[in-house]
Parts: sequence; structure tokens; C-alpha cells
Amino acid sequence: MLAWKQIQKYVLAYGVFALLVGALLFQSFQSRHHDQIEAESRLVKITFQSVLKGFENNAELFYLNVIDRPENTRLMKAVYQASESQRTELRQKLYANLIDNYRSMGDFKIKQLHFHLKNNDSFLRFHRPEKYGDNLTEVRPTVAYVNQKQQTISGFEEGRIFNGYRFVFPLFDGDEHVGSVETSVSMQVLIDQMQAELGEQAGFMIQSALVKQKVFSSEVSNYRPTSFSSNFLYESSITPHDGDSLPDRLIQTLTLSKPLEHFLPTQREHTYEVHDRGADYFLTFVPIKNAVSKQTVAYLMFAKENLKHQQLLMQFLISLLAILVLGALIFWLFYQIKMNEKRLKQLQRETEHKNTLLSKAQEVAKLGYWNLDLKSNQLYWSDEVYRIFGLQAQEFDATYEAFLEYVYPEDKERLIQAYADSLENKKQYRITHRIIRQNGELGYVQEECQHELDEHGEIVRSIGTVLDISEQVHHEQRLQSLKEQYQSLVQSVPEIVFRCELDEDWTMLFVNDSIEKITGYPASDFIGNRVRGFASIIHPEDLERVMASEDDQYELEYRLLHRSGEIVYVKEHGQTVTLEEGHEVLEGIIADVTSEKQALQRLQRFIDTQSQIVIVRKGRELVYANKSLFKFLGYVDLSDFNRHHQCMCEFFLPQEEFFHVEPTDDRDWVEVLLALPGSKRNVLMQDHAGKRHVFSVSVNAFDETSTIITFNDISDTMREHIDWKYRASHDPLTSCLNRHFLEKNYQELVSEMTRFGKSAGLILFDVDFFKNINDTYGHNRGDQVLKALAKLVQSHVRDSDRLIRWGGEEFLLLFPVDSLEGVEAFASHLRARIEDNPMANLALTCSFGGTLIEGSEKLKKSISRADEALYYVKENGRNGVRVQ
Ligand code: GH3
Ligand code: MG
Ligand code: MG
Repeated sequence: MLAWKQIQKYVLAYGVFALLVGALLFQSFQSRHHDQIEAESRLVKITFQSVLKGFENNAELFYLNVIDRPENTRLMKAVYQASESQRTELRQKLYANLIDNYRSMGDFKIKQLHFHLKNNDSFLRFHRPEKYGDNLTEVRPTVAYVNQKQQTISGFEEGRIFNGYRFVFPLFDGDEHVGSVETSVSMQVLIDQMQAELGEQAGFMIQSALVKQKVFSSEVSNYRPTSFSSNFLYESSITPHDGDSLPDRLIQTLTLSKPLEHFLPTQREHTYEVHDRGADYFLTFVPIKNAVSKQTVAYLMFAKENLKHQQLLMQFLISLLAILVLGALIFWLFYQIKMNEKRLKQLQRETEHKNTLLSKAQEVAKLGYWNLDLKSNQLYWSDEVYRIFGLQAQEFDATYEAFLEYVYPEDKERLIQAYADSLENKKQYRITHRIIRQNGELGYVQEECQHELDEHGEIVRSIGTVLDISEQVHHEQRLQSLKEQYQSLVQSVPEIVFRCELDEDWTMLFVNDSIEKITGYPASDFIGNRVRGFASIIHPEDLERVMASEDDQYELEYRLLHRSGEIVYVKEHGQTVTLEEGHEVLEGIIADVTSEKQALQRLQRFIDTQSQIVIVRKGRELVYANKSLFKFLGYVDLSDFNRHHQCMCEFFLPQEEFFHVEPTDDRDWVEVLLALPGSKRNVLMQDHAGKRHVFSVSVNAFDETSTIITFNDISDTMREHIDWKYRASHDPLTSCLNRHFLEKNYQELVSEMTRFGKSAGLILFDVDFFKNINDTYGHNRGDQVLKALAKLVQSHVRDSDRLIRWGGEEFLLLFPVDSLEGVEAFASHLRARIEDNPMANLALTCSFGGTLIEGSEKLKKSISRADEALYYVKENGRNGVRVQ
């Protein structure tokens, strides 16, 4: 992707370069082409001028040396005073003077020698001596000009026959103007000369109008029309008839698109380049001006093939191609260089990155490397080597001597020897030694070294690594020291510390020396069951229990048999441990608890001597109780007790003024008890003979988990208090509740009765004719009868019903009931029971009056209603029931 973008960039740049080069080359080509044309134009001009100048010089030489001589000028002067015949004579003399010279003029390509008089009359034409006397003012402006201005003139002038260049000189005899003389060169001669000089084909054309105006009509046939313009005519003698002349052909080609006038220059020569019939040509127009009027009247044309144009074009194309190819090559080279640079940079970056990574990796691994070129004795250390020695990376140039300075002095000799040996044997070596870092810290390194051999088997280079193993060594040292500490710790603890197999003998893998102190047998006896197995010293009575323990984590108490035969009580904590290989073993601690056990036994013995009941709880579990408890409750021992009961609290009688626990209450009774003030921590319990005792309970922590609870029998001190309370509310004769109790607690008793949607029923009953019993059998017998009656009624009422001795032989019953009918039914039932049962062997009856206690009415009111009913029964025969 990157390369493709680069290529696009380079191709674009090359395109711009090619365009620029093309444009520049083309401009250069154009310029050179233009120069070529200009050069051609100048060549024609200079050639034309030089050819003309040549003719002009010849003419002037001839004039000065031959014509302008006194013998000639004298003759001309004489003409003006001479008669016609004298003139003829003078003419002949002049002719005779110059005829030889005239004939030699041909050598100089100069034609004509024509003398004119001051009035422009022709005087002597050497080429036609017989024709003279005609006036030339109109047809020969040059002649008129010279005679008038008496100055020389040279230049083109159309002739009446042919065209040519005239050189007209004024003639003076002394100071006297005596006429003029003309020599000329024909256009044909001029053109021939030019063609010879330039090697080009030439043509000449003249304005048609001028020909018409100047040329003798008999001479017009000397001209012929051009194929491209009617304004110009060719002079036939100069331009070949066949029309195949090069200038003619080129002008035709040139004027295909535009008329000739467009191309004709007026002032100076101009060259065109014309492409015709597959070749390039120069076509130069030379404007020919009339000597006097200075008007352009005719054109000379020169044409030649431009061989250089093709050459130039080829040059241009070859140059272009060469430059483009070269450019492409250069661009390609640049591209390659650039790409190589990029690749190099990328490579450098990668190398740098790799070096950084390598350095980092070395830092992390704490691994440095070095190499020693043995030929140049050049040593190189990687950054990490410096760091291992506590130096800045590449802080100074590495040397073997510098390295040795950091080696721990005692290890130096060994190291030098190892290297020397490896050089001698050409073998690699590995060595661990100490170093002292720059900051004085001790370090450990592991060195490895290999050698590189040349083709002769000679060592040329040693390459080594330095691995910083200080941390591992320190770690191992710490570990070793920890191990030693651990072992000494394990050996110093008084408990047996062990690790054993999970087999039947508990084959010991490790056991500390404490086992000897506790059992009398040395540890070595047990390792691998060498002398005896651990199971063999467990008390036979406990062995089965110990073996049955299968928990991963356990706590056991059992007995060991000491070598001396004594019994040792031990407590073992152990757990199953999985070792690295997945092998399961048992590890644990066995503590000698004999002294504790004995202390506990002494404590138990002591507790057993106590008359109070003492129990020991562990958590909520009853773990120990003294004999007083079992004596009080009638159990043999603790296990006997535990078989029948779960909690001591089951024995607390539910009496209002004593602490007891409702069966639905889950709380620990000890905690509930402890929340009460000391005076309230009394419980009422019944002994196995049914006698009730009051105990004051005290709770004391024995250790973290155990509690000692003491039950102190305070029945004797409590009795008086109880009796007093009892007497206040009970009738001493019948033990029924008394009138005082009812009056005091009436409202509470009624709410108690009506608690479950029932009504409170009230029955008042009175013994019939009781006076007679007293009177007949005595007062004591009467008392016995009352007691027996109360007992009988009591046995026919429910616990919640209350029997009250209302007075004398009159009783009151308070009870929950649904309706008045219920009251009546209950009263009738009691009446029948009394009638059926003699009291103290005496038959008697009672009369009953009943009612329902209404709402919150006073006791008096309900009593009076019941009393009314009772009275009614008494009045109506007794031994009956009435309710209202
Ligand atoms: P009625 O059928 O009309 O009730 O005849 P009654 O004889 O039972 O009636 P009365 O009220 O005349 O007699 C009650 C007697 O009960 C009078 C009294 O001496 C006797 N009495 C009262 N309290 C006691 C007591 O505690 N012990 C004895 N033995 N007798 C008592
Ligand atoms: Mg009575
Ligand atoms: Mg009475």
C-alpha cells in the first residue's frame, strides 16, 4: 500500500518533469528552428547585398577608370554646341574611344553603356548605336534624377525590354555638367550569380501593372503570368516555363490557404518554411525597390530544401526520448533510493525496537550478555551487565579487568581459573559466584561462557551470559533459615507435632521429639514404624473410638500408655492435608492433658462433696453434674439424665413468682436468667418424691466455653415468706381462696375468664341445715365436713376455675362459661355430686344460686343476683339450683 502510494507520487512527479522537459525542449527546438529561418533570411540578404555591391564596384571602377576621362567628357561637352552632323561625328569618336572597353565589360557581367545628354535625350547606346535622340525622362527616371541632381544613383529599374540594376553617373568636364552615363546588370545575371552563391533555386516576379506601363508592347512576351497571383508576372527568361521551378511550387503551396499578399514582405527579405511533398523547404522573398521611387515593385524568390529541419526534429525527438528515458531512470533510481532509505529506516526502527525489547527482556530476566573479541581484545557488555553491577548502562567501556573488580575477592581466583581452563580446553563453562555491586551490595550471579572457533579451530571470540540470581539465592537463604527456625520451633513445642500416613498404624513421616517426653519412646521408634506403631500405645479402651474418627478436621481426647505403664491423657487436633503430589496425609498436634484432666477430676470430686446441686455446661450442653443433682432427681448418673432430658430447665415449675421457661421459648435459659436481677433468679423444682424446693441459681464462667451453675436450696428461708403470702389469700381450713383474695382480684379474675370470648359465670352455694351438723356431731366434725366438701368440689372444677370460701359454710365459684344455661348445668352437676358423696361419713346437700357477670358490673351486684337465687332455693325446699 505504502509502495503503491510512493509509486503514484513518483509517476506524477515524472509526468510533470516530462511535460516540463518536453516544453523546454520544444521551445528550444522552436527557437533553433526560428534561428535557422532567420539565418537563411540573413544569408540571402547578405549574399544579395554582396553580389550587388560587387556589380556596383565593377560599375564604379569602369566609370572612374574608363569613362570619366577628359577625351570622353570633352566630346560630350562639345555636343551642345555642335550641329547634327558634328554630333554624329562626336558620337562616332566617343564610340571609337570606348568600344574596346565596352566589349570587355562582359567579363564583369556589366551590360550596356548608354550616354545621355543633360536633357535626358539618348546620345549613344553601345548595344544599339544607331538608336539615339529619344528622350528618356519618362522611361528612365534614374537618368532624369542624375541629370537633375548631378549625383550618382544605383538601383533597380524596370526596363522597356528587360529589368535590371542601373548604375547612372553624372558626367562633368571640368566643373561643367555635360550629361550622364548608365551601365547596368540584368536581373538574369544577378540571379545567376545569386544561385551560384547560395546554391538555391531562384525566381523573379514583377508587378503586372508595371509591365503594362513600362515594357514595349513588342517585348511583353518576355513575361508570363504566375500560377498564384494575377498581380505579378514572371520574367520568362529567368523563371523556367515548365512551371516546375521550386519557388513557384512552394509559393503555390504557401498560398493554398491565404493569398500571396499576406506573405509578401514590403521592407526587407523574409524567409518561410514550407512543407511540401514530404520535405521541408526555405522560401525567401527579397523585395526589390525602384531606385528612385523607393517603392517595392518586384520580388526575388529563393528556395532550397531545409535538410536541417528534419535533422533538428530528429535531434529534438532523440533528445526528448533520451532525457525522458534518463529522467525515468533517475526517477526510478530516486524511488529505489527512497524506498531503500525507508526500508533502512524501518529496519533501523525495528532494530531499535528489538534492541529496546532485548534490553528490557534482559532487565526483566536479569540476564546480561557479553562478548570478547580475542583478536582485538574488544569486550562488549550488554546494558544489563552494567545494571547487574549497579552501573549506568554503557557507563564506560567494558574491560575484563573492570569486570574482575566487581567480583567478590574470594571468588576471583576460581573465576579466573575457570575461564583460563575453558580457553585451554575450548569448552564452555558455567560458574556461580558472588559480586560486589557499585553500591557495595552483595549479589550472586551465574555465568555461562561459550567460545567461537575459526576455521583453524582457534578461539576468536568468547560469548557469555551473566544471570543475576541474587534474589533466588537470598530467597533460598531466607527459606533455609525459615526452615531451621520452623524445625527448632516445632522441636521446642511441648506438644507432639506429627505428620503421618492415613494407614491403620498411622505410620509416622515426621514427629518431633516431644513424643519421647509424653510417651517415653523416642521419635525414631515411630518414624516408618521402625520399632512400634503409634496405634500400639493408644489405650485399648480408646483405640476403637480413635480409629472411628474419620473427619478431615477433628479433635479427640484419649489415653496413651506411657512406657512406664502410666496412663497419659492427651488431646489431639488434626486434619487431612493434601501434599503437592496429591498424596493425602494426616497432620496434627497431640497435647498432654493429664494434669488438666487430673485437676478436673479433683474439681469434680470437690464439687461432688458439695450439698448444692452443681452442673457444668459447655455451651448449652450439660457436661457434668454433681451427685446432689442425681440424688435430688433420682437418676444414676449424667448419661442416665441425658437419656431422659435435654435441658435442666425442664424441671423449673411454672410458678408465677419463680423463674421458669415457657416450652415455646428457644432462648438459652441461662442467658434469660442472667438478664434478671439477682433476687429474681430463683427456681422452683420438685424432687423425685414430689417435694417442692426453691433454689437460688448462680452462674459462673469456668473457662471460655464452660459455665458452672449452682442451685442453692433456699426452701427453708423461703417457706415463711410463702406461707405468709398463702395465708393472705387462702382459707386455712379448706385451702380455698378467700373472700379477701376475690375482692382484691375480682376485675383481673373476670378478665381472665372472659379472655377467650367466654362469659364469667358465678355460682354461690350454701350447705343446707349445717347448724344441725355442728349441733349433732360437734364443731370439729363440722370442720371436717367443710374440708371434705371443698376437696370434692375442687376435684370437679377445672384449673382455671376458682373456688372461694365466701363465708361460714357458703362457697363461691367463678368460672368461664358460654351462657346462663351453662351456669345452671354446672351448678346442677355439682349439686348432684355433693348429694351423692357423703362428707366425713355424713350425707348432706347444698343449695345453688347462679348468674352471669354482666360487662363490668361490680362484684356486689352479681353476688346479690346469685344470692337472691340462692335465697329462693332455700325458701323453696333447698338442695336445688336456680339461676338468674
Ligand atoms: P339453712 O339450711 O337455712 O342454711 O340452715 P343452717 O342451719 O345451715 O343455717 P344457719 O345460718 O342458721 O347456721 C349456720 C351455722 O354454721 C352457724 C354456725 O355455727 C355454723 N358455722 C359457721 N362457721 C362454722 C365453722 O367454721 N365450723 C363449724 N363447725 N360450724 C360453723
Ligand atoms: Mg346453711
Ligand atoms: Mg349459711
